[in-house]
Amino acid sequence: DNPIRRKPDWIRVKAPTHPVYHETRALMRENRLVTVCEEAACPNIGECWSQRHATMMIMGDTCTRACSFCNVATGIPRALDADEPRRVADAVATLGLRHVVVTSVDRDDLPDGGAEHFARTIRAVRAAAPGTTIEVLTPDFLRKDGALEVVVEACPDVFNHNLETVPRLYLPVRPGARYFHSLRLLDRVKELDPSIFTKSGLMVGLGEAWGEVLQVMDDLRSAEVDFLTIGQYLQPTVKHAAVDRFVEPAEFEDYARMARGKGFLLVSATPLTRSSYHADRDFAELRAA
Ligand code: SF4
Ligand code: SF4
Repeated sequence: DNPIRRKPDWIRVKAPTHPVYHETRALMRENRLVTVCEEAACPNIGECWSQRHATMMIMGDTCTRACSFCNVATGIPRALDADEPRRVADAVATLGLRHVVVTSVDRDDLPDGGAEHFARTIRAVRAAAPGTTIEVLTPDFLRKDGALEVVVEACPDVFNHNLETVPRLYLPVRPGARYFHSLRLLDRVKELDPSIFTKSGLMVGLGEAWGEVLQVMDDLRSAEVDFLTIGQYLQPTVKHAAVDRFVEPAEFEDYARMARGKGFLLVSATPLTRSSYHADRDFAELRAA
């Protein structure tokens, strides 16, 4: 077991008390929706849910992979719920979201990795809430030929796939994935439809070096990825990977400056940045600019 290190002063999380937080929570329960906010024990849930910003997790709460940083349960998932796209769409319409992030567990057990379910969810949200912009945060569809194309054809506004860490740390951190496969996935989205914004994210504090992070930024830019998020890795339980160090806020600012200099259109790099943190606000600001 890895003991959990005490968090530094700059990682302060407010307890959720806002009435809108409770409304959002009730709506998720009523519609039997799973959110990554809860499954990943995200530290921003108080802030995000108070602004009705939630990240839906489709295709169940059980993942076929076991990444060492992730709090989602690993096991044999249940069959897909054909009614789920409709329930996600209803919740998006009821919440009146300007932007929604839809992610999923990894479904290596399905022939298409769940691509068609993603596409159906995108189409259902478009129909129910035409004014809402849609961001998908997808699995890597490793060894699922044709799956990526199915998701791209459904035309999400933003296609997000996280590299999570530097290539050297893939084996201990993201053992089921391949760095260059994930990079190529993002590259391919732009080839298929250049009108879709692409996005990726990294966690730091897992033992990566400064220069390795800059190399990942260059790799992402060479795949024409538009948006980048970088946040501090926090260890969910003693069974998960240990935090190597807490990266200081000034270093995050340096990462953000370097990323902007390399040409990313949107950059979020702070200790509490998560893949979907402020995704609604940032994307709305970009569109308005
Ligand atoms: Fe949910 Fe993302 Fe906000 Fe975390 S940062 S609470 S995962 S929307
Ligand atoms: Fe968690 Fe995604 Fe890894 Fe599954 S594939 S364990 S949901 S990070």
